[in-house]
This record gives sequence, C-alpha cells and structure tokens, in this order.
Amino acid sequence: MLPVIALVGRPNVGKSTLFNQLTRSRDALVADYAGLTRDRKYGEARLGSRPFIVIDTGGVSGDEDGIDQAMADQSMTAIEEADAVLLMVDAREGLNAGDEALAQHLRQRGKPFHLIVNKVDGISADVATGDFYSLGVPSLFAIAASHGRGVRSMIEAVLGPFPEAEQADGEDRFGRTRVAVVGRPNVGKSTLVNRLLGEDRVVVYDQPGTTRDSIYIDYARDDKPYTLIDTAGVRRRKNVRETVEKFSIVKTLKAIDDANVVVLVMDGHEGIVEQDMHLLGHCIEAGRGLVLAVNKWDGIEPDQRDWIKSELGRRLQFADYADSHFISALHGTGVGHLYKSIDAAYQSATRKLSTNALTRILEGAVYDHPPPLMNGRRIKLRYAHAGGQNPPLVVIHGNQTGKVPASYQRYLEKIFRRELDLVGTPVRIEFRTNE
Ligand code: GDP
Ligand code: GDP
Repeated sequence: MLPVIALVGRPNVGKSTLFNQLTRSRDALVADYAGLTRDRKYGEARLGSRPFIVIDTGGVSGDEDGIDQAMADQSMTAIEEADAVLLMVDAREGLNAGDEALAQHLRQRGKPFHLIVNKVDGISADVATGDFYSLGVPSLFAIAASHGRGVRSMIEAVLGPFPEAEQADGEDRFGRTRVAVVGRPNVGKSTLVNRLLGEDRVVVYDQPGTTRDSIYIDYARDDKPYTLIDTAGVRRRKNVRETVEKFSIVKTLKAIDDANVVVLVMDGHEGIVEQDMHLLGHCIEAGRGLVLAVNKWDGIEPDQRDWIKSELGRRLQFADYADSHFISALHGTGVGHLYKSIDAAYQSATRKLSTNALTRILEGAVYDHPPPLMNGRRIKLRYAHAGGQNPPLVVIHGNQTGKVPASYQRYLEKIFRRELDLVGTPVRIEFRTNE
C-alpha cells in the first residue's frame, strides 16, 4: 500500500521546504475542497522507485486555544490517515511550548511519530538535537531540509516498517480490473457506484469491509472480474453504524494509486472546477487508466452542455487520451458506455508490447521526423522495448538520449499511442543511452 507521511509543526519550522524537497517539481494537490478550511498540500514523492504521499498540514500551530478544537479539524484527519507523522521542530529556535503541545497531542492520539529537528546546517547536530530529547520521542532525526541533508536517510528509516507493494506483473496484478471511482464531494460518486454495481449483468461477491480506507468490492460483469474501489464508502454506510467521513483526499489518492483505471467524476451542473483539475493531475501523475465522467447531465440546458464540452476540450487537453462520458448516475444513463471505456483503458494499460513492434514504430517515427541535431551531432534512437504496464512504459535506447527535447518526446508518445491504438492510458517514455 502507498504509505502516507504527514508533516506537522509550528509555522516556519520548515514544513513546506521539506515538502518541496520530497515532492520536487511534482505538482502538489492543494486542498481547498469545500468544507476543508485549512490549507493543506498533498504531493506524491518517491524514494528510489517507491512512491509515497506527503501531506503538509500547513495550519497546525500547537499554540492555538484548545487542541481539541484542532483535533476536530480536518488537519487532524489528515494526521489520522497518515501512516507516519513527522513532527518538525526548529533547531535554531530550540524547544518551544508549541512543540510540546503538539508532541503531547500526538501522543494522546496514540499516533506513532518521529521528531525531525530541522535547520541543523552550520550547527553541530548534537547541540542542535540536545534540547529536544526532553520531549521523550524515541525516534529523532536531524536534517537540513533546505540543503536536503539527512532527508533521504530519514525517509528511508521512516518508510522502513511499511511493506513494499509487490511489483507482481502479469495475472496476479492484472487478473481483474480495479476501478476507482473518485471525485470531489457531491459530484455523484455514491450514486454512480450504486449504478455500476446495480446493473442486472453484475454479480457482487464480497461483503463490505470495515476499515477507514476505501471499500473494495469484487464483482463480475458478463463474467469479467472487477474490483470496484469505492472512495465514497457507499456499501459500508448501509451496514455499519460507524459514520464515515465521506470525502478524504488521502483515501482518494490511495484509491487512484491502487487502481488500474480511474473514473473521475465531475458535476455537470458546476462545470470543471479547480479541484477536478487537481485530481486529474494526480491521475495523470500516477499513470493510471482514465475515464472522465461528467455527471448530472440530466436537466442541463443545451447551451450549458455545449459550454461544458468546449471547456473539457480546452482545459483537459493534456488528458485527451481519456474517453469522456456525459452521464446521469441518477437515471443510469450512459453507464454501459462507461464500462466500454473502462475495459478499453484496462486493455490498453496492461497490454504486452513486443520489442519488435515497438522498435518498428520507433523507426517509423524517426524516419518521418528525425530528432534534432545537438552540438552538430544527431541524436540517435536505435531500438525500443517495453519497460512496464499500467502505464505502458516504452524504453528507448540510443545516443545522446539525455538531450531529446520535451517536444520530441511528446511527438513519440503521440506516435506510440496512435500506432499501438492505446486508449485511456498515458504512455511513458524512458530513454537510455548506450555509449
Ligand atoms: P513552514 O511554515 O513550516 O512550512 O516553514 P518553511 O518551509 O516556509 O520555512 C520557514 C523558513 O525556514 C524559510 O525561510 C526557509 O527557507 C527556512 N528553512 C527551512 N529549512 C531550512 C534549513 O534546513 N536550514 C535553514 N537554515 N533554513 C531553513
Ligand atoms: P458523492 O458525494 O460524490 O458520493 O455524491 P452523491 O452520490 O451522494 O450525490 C450528491 C447529490 O447529487 C445527491 O443529492 C444525488 O442525488 C445527486 N445526484 C447524483 N447523481 C446525479 C445525477 O446524475 N443527476 C442529478 N440531477 N443529481 C444527481
């Protein structure tokens, strides 16, 4: 499973700096969801090839009146959902009452956490950390976030206890289509989940789980096996009295990561909003198969329909490989077509690609449009082979491949997608140099 790390600490201790270090240029998901007042950022980071999620909990200060107040706050929800909490403190300021309040709070919540003493650049780590031992946190790390010092080994240690997802290719991982239904609150996810499962052709097997994570529902449709990853928690709400938080970004990000195909649901009444774009960004980043569903299409005037369609074309250009559907989950309109796109995206995302076919396509693409000259030498792209599925990864070998311009890479992606007839999935290209 995708581990989630939350950064907590007073203002100015260096949370954003560490967040940026970890997530690099990757686009952060900024949480400005309706009803979630505090600013939080979500980003996907990697340690080697291992992905994890980082949350910058921005607002928590520990100074505020009544930590209970903060506890009820959404920031605390993020902490609850985190697998590991990093309590950051400032080595230059020394121990502060706010740090103590936060440490005590985390302890009360029974949440394991690590103490991260930041800004140890230019000062002795022993001196820097000495002050903080009195907090009694068994796990302490000294780092300089702005220099990246100590960051990697700290993250290695923090992620250590969490099992790595097996990278089992083939039948194990791709035997059934894992479909995540995601979207911001009230777009109609629950209604759609019920529709997807409620068809006559569908046989649902599993009883709902009772964890805080998404519900995984195994079923078959026309004998084809699926697992629906239900972020809205529809099925559970019926059976268990526990009140489930309906929307959670962490849950959503985990669901996307764990799916083969994501159905991103949007609300036709509201058009495409910023939060849809953020979620879309994450789907693309994660490389999953993608189907776009604009819901509540019933009762939308023709003018509005045209406008939404043109918006979709304009703003979602970079996801133009995904099929779009205009549906009414309420009335069940368009759900069958949704399945067609889900199946197509799954097929494309998990197809086995032969070295021969890929190399032939590469040669054709290079013949039509040779890569540019670099320092008077032509970039040579020699052969291609498959490097992975979901998303399909094409590994291209050649000379000077580090200099392939982004525009040429996009050209190649387009050609591979077209020639391989891939729909609903991004294509990744990786270059290797043999010199
Ligand atoms: P946040 O409010 O906790 O998110 O803190 P920021 O990441 O915005 O950092 C607050 C200030 O501390 C900024 O001026 C950073 O440049 C600085 N800072 C962060 N990390 C380090 C560090 O490792 N060493 C030093 N010297 N300054 C740092
Ligand atoms: P969720 O928060 O994304 O799970 O959204 P829900 O499925 O709970 O739906 C939110 C509201 O939108 C409910 O009042 C639904 O009845 C309504 N809704 C869902 N789908 C449709 C639809 O296709 N058309 C219309 N008009 N309303 C819908």
